[in-house]
Order: sequence, then C-alpha cells, then structure tokens
Amino acid sequence: MGRFDTVVIGAGIAGLTCARMLADTGRRVVVLEARNRIGGRMHTERSAGFPVDLGASWIHGIADSPLWELVRALDVPTIEFTVGSFQPGGRRIEHFDATGAPMGADETEQWIADVGAADALLVDAVARSSPGESYLQLTERALAASGLAPERIGEIREFFRHRVEEQCGAWIGDLDAHGLDEDAIDGDEVIFPRGYDELPRRIAAGLDVRLGHVVESVARRDGGEDEWLVRTGEGDFVGATVVVTVPLGVLRSSAIRFDPPLPRTATGPIARLGMGVFNKVFVQFPERFWGEGTYAIRALGDAGARWHSWYDVSAISGIPTLLTFAAGPFGRSMQALADEAVVDDSLTALRALYGAAVGDPLAWWVTRWGEDPFAAGSYSHLPIGSSYRDHDMLAEPIDGGLHFAGEATWGAEPATVGGAYCSGHRAAERLLGRPVDRAEFAAAIVRRER
Ligand SMILES: Cc1cc2nc3c(=O)[nH]c(=O)nc-3n(C[C@H](O)[C@H](O)[C@H](O)COP(=O)(O)OP(=O)(O)OC[C@H]3O[C@@H](n4cnc5c(N)ncnc54)[C@H](O)[C@@H]3O)c2cc1C
Repeated sequence: MGRFDTVVIGAGIAGLTCARMLADTGRRVVVLEARNRIGGRMHTERSAGFPVDLGASWIHGIADSPLWELVRALDVPTIEFTVGSFQPGGRRIEHFDATGAPMGADETEQWIADVGAADALLVDAVARSSPGESYLQLTERALAASGLAPERIGEIREFFRHRVEEQCGAWIGDLDAHGLDEDAIDGDEVIFPRGYDELPRRIAAGLDVRLGHVVESVARRDGGEDEWLVRTGEGDFVGATVVVTVPLGVLRSSAIRFDPPLPRTATGPIARLGMGVFNKVFVQFPERFWGEGTYAIRALGDAGARWHSWYDVSAISGIPTLLTFAAGPFGRSMQALADEAVVDDSLTALRALYGAAVGDPLAWWVTRWGEDPFAAGSYSHLPIGSSYRDHDMLAEPIDGGLHFAGEATWGAEPATVGGAYCSGHRAAERLLGRPVDRAEFAAAIVRRER
C-alpha cells in the first residue's frame, strides 16, 4: 500500500496540473488514472500519422487566458481558428438558407444582423429573467419581441437551439436561463496542429502516474492524523489529502463510493449540475468542395436539421477534412448507430448543399463520449435551477483534506480546458496554503525538458 502526501484521482489537465504543482514543492504525489492513457477529455489520436483531437480542440478566446500563457511559455504551436464557438459571423462562413441554397453576400449580412439583433434582445431577457426559467423561454421572449418575419424567427430559433447543443451538449429547454452567461469569447480562438494532448503530456513528464487504476472508493481513516484510503482494482493508496478530478458524469454515476458520504456542499452541486453530450465526426475527402479560406459551413432548414455546422480542419493533416458535431439529444441518440451510418447520414446532409462534388470519404472518426465510463458525457452545463455558484461550491474543500477539481468546478469558465487548468491550480494553492506562480510552473516544465 503506497503512502503519499496527496493522492490525485484523474490524469486530465486538472489533475496533472495540481499534481505537478504539488510535486514541484517536494510533496509526494501519486496520480491514479483509470484509462491506459493520460489526458482524459484531451485525447489526440495519431494512428493515421497525423493528430486527430477526439476531445477538446480549441482555446475559446486567448485574451487574458491563463491557458494561453501556458501555451506561449511552452512554445506550443497553434493555428488561429475563430469560429469554434458557434458565432453567426466573423471569419468566413459559407451559409446555406432553408432551401439548401448558398446565401449571397447581402443575404449573409442580413442573417448576421438579424441574429445579432435577436441576441441583443436575448441578453436583455436573460438579465430580467426569473429563477426557474429556461433558456428556451428566454429565446422565445426575445424572438417574440424582435419584430422579425415568422420564417426568420424559425431560422433563428433553430440557430439558438443548435448553439446550446454545441456549447452545452444539452437541449435548449433543459438549460437554465443563465446557462450561457459565461460563454463570451475574448480574443481569437486557436487549435493545435501537433495535437492538444501535448499540454497534458508535457505537464505529466516525471510525475508518478499509475495508469489502469480505476478508483472504486475514497474513505477517511480514523486515527490521529487525517488519512484517506483510496481503493483501486490494482491496490490501495493512502494520502494525507486527496484531490478528485473525475468528470461530473462519473461523480453523478456514483461509480466512486465516499465514506463518510459527501456533504451537501458537494452532493447539491453534483445533483444540480448537468453533464451534456457533444460528439465529434471528422470526415476526410479526396478533394475540397468548399471554398478556399472558408472556416465553417452552416446550413439552415431541412439540410441542417441534424448536421448543420462543419469546420474546415484540413490544416492539421493537409488532407481536406471537415469536422461536424452531434450534440444534445441528437448527440446521445447518434451513439447507438454504427460509424458508417453516422457518416452516411452526415454526407447526405452535405450533398444536399454541395451535390455530387462531395466525394466518397477517405477516412472518418466518430466519438461516443456519452458512453465512455470514465467521462460519462462531454462537459458540464447548467440545467434549470442550477447556477454558476454550484460549480465553485463543488470545489469547496471537505473537512480532513478532500478536494475536488476539474472543469465542472470552475464557475468562471466551466466546460473548458482553460477552466479545468485553473481548477487544478486552485486546488494546489489550497493544499499548499499559498499562491503558486503559473509562470514559474511553466518555466519548471521547460527546464526539466532540457
Ligand atoms: C468532444 C469534446 C470536445 C471538447 N472541446 C473543447 C474545446 O474545443 N475547448 C475546450 O476548452 N474544452 C473542450 N472540451 C472540454 C474539455 O475537454 C474538458 O473541459 C477538459 O479536458 C476537462 O479536464 P478535466 O481534467 O477536468 O477532466 P478529464 O480530462 O475528464 O480528466 C479526468 C480524468 O479522470 C479519469 N477517471 C474517471 N473516472 C476515474 C476513476 N474511477 N478512477 C480513476 N480515474 C478516473 C478519466 O479517465 C480522466 O482521465 C471538449 C470536451 C469534449 C468531450
């Protein structure tokens, strides 16, 4: 049985950041990871000879981002890609109208202006909302006040629904009125041509990480000093403190038993917060059939009913590649289909826009994060009645040295790599009882690599 100052559960970016910061001060730390790889929801697949990010791809806004500071300090290359957050305009998007026909310049301008006007009304409606109202109720209020034509209202309604699915992995009627409050994008967005998992891999270098260790229980032991017994199928570990970074979906599934049972400061947020499903489908084509310089393709109406948004990520592999998403209720139901059926369905949608120019695919990748027992979903969101305070409440240390970290515990930016990174930093600072300088943390990683 190993004894440690801190046992960290989960080798995603939150757990690894926390463990590295603690280990840098000389603490004895072990990281227990259920899978046979590190990175968690940062998962880069390389079997085809180039990186495919099956989990996170983007930094959603690099301005004032601690994660971006880390990327710069580690000199990790990035590619600017600023439509990863479901914006209606900005970088070049090929828009298709409800009949499946490409929108002209004037039509596109009008579409972006109409969504902008409805969004402004929506912000106002959210600010005046009452507790218990859903985001759907607020969008309906904003659309009713917009004075737009009924067909246009129908299209924007669809756009709002799709935006919630992509940003939250949830159905718009389940999301709290404030569920997208923290969704502002500050600065450019970027993706990672060498694969996003470079970050967790470099943070993890030199750490004691035990792969294939599925944690089953965390129990406080009686005795003089505080001590926690962490039980895995591969053996037991004892820590003076424990940091739990498993995803909210895993906490909600009760896969890990806590003894004594968790207090209401933890069980309340775990019950109130939601875990959404957001799946990715990458398809590679023999030839590009969309325009040079196009960042994204968006379709309204029937052609876009299921597959409505496509992102050009060809720059990663040099092969024409589109990435599309299946999220929310559709993201869940799609998981029951075989990969071929998913890809075929998405190609039917694309052919409704580009016709025979859409060649037979060379390769594809389809994810099923909702069925993954060590994620049990893609990221957290706010169902009706929950609030951003629930995220931070979940991170409140529990008597005797039990801490939680991970994206679901960071209220200022949940559901992101940036939030998970900050939550790991916060847990380390709380355990050490003093600030940890992020620049020094990054510099130490670089020094160790020399
Ligand atoms: C498809 C997809 C796309 C995304 N896109 C983006 C994006 O573009 N930009 C962005 O910022 N964010 C994105 N995210 C969200 C982002 O990936 C996560 O917020 C972030 O990686 C979470 O890090 P974490 O350390 O909190 O959790 P995780 O990375 O999930 O780490 C938790 C670890 O705990 C392990 N674990 C689970 N159960 C056990 C157990 N019983 N015992 C031991 N270990 C266990 C898991 O295997 C995992 O390694 C995306 C997520 C998904 C799924």
